[in-house]
Amino acid sequence: MGVPGRIHSIESFGALDGPGIRYVLFLQGCSLRCLYCHNPDTWDPADGKPADSDEIMKDILSYRSFIRSGGVTLSGGEPLLQPEFAREILLRCREAGIHTAIDTAGSVPLSVSAPVIDAADLLLLDIKSFDDALCRELTGRSNENTLRTLEYCEKTRKPVWLRHVLVPGWTLKRELLEPLADYLSRFPCVELVELLPFHKMGEYKWRELKLPYRLTDTPVPAHEELEAAKAIFTGRGLKCLMKE
Ligand code: SF4
Repeated sequence: MGVPGRIHSIESFGALDGPGIRYVLFLQGCSLRCLYCHNPDTWDPADGKPADSDEIMKDILSYRSFIRSGGVTLSGGEPLLQPEFAREILLRCREAGIHTAIDTAGSVPLSVSAPVIDAADLLLLDIKSFDDALCRELTGRSNENTLRTLEYCEKTRKPVWLRHVLVPGWTLKRELLEPLADYLSRFPCVELVELLPFHKMGEYKWRELKLPYRLTDTPVPAHEELEAAKAIFTGRGLKCLMKE
């Protein structure tokens, strides 16, 4: 019997969450309420399916030859909300020589998350908004824990791929992106900035869950707006990828 946890789903050949082909484990539960969330069905920590780290490791190892170019990513929901379960899987992967990443919004205090972060090879860290008031409006929570998480990664030399969702009328504004890029350029641990254009592919899930979706009238970003946003980051010496 391993460490128990709750999962939402598994993607055994993921190509979007970290380097190479990856086994992506989506953990159940999230305390943020991002207006653009495309997985609101991961929010409730009591929902999803019960899982056990031993069974998950058996499954991961059965895909070992397919994920040789990549590894394992813990995503969600917010994987750091299940610290014992997440850490156990990360440590077992490390023992097996499998590269690991955590896809997180960094919303969990470091007192809880640090031992889990220490056990991973890479953090995919999503800063929802560098402006705290906007972050609260966009997610329901402050960005304080996220910024502390990035500082911790710098201190411990943990590689970070920084993620940021570009939402027209919300985060896709020069006056917000420039201070964010200035801030990130002071962190050598940030190996890559991944800009994620807003899309509405998860809107139907909000309807199914009878949740009010506030971004129905928000357009997807235009190509020129995305190019201009990318230039703000590359202009400050940051390696930047648009994940269109
Ligand atoms: S952190 Fe991720 S899972 Fe949680 S509400 Fe935001 S987008 Fe959804």
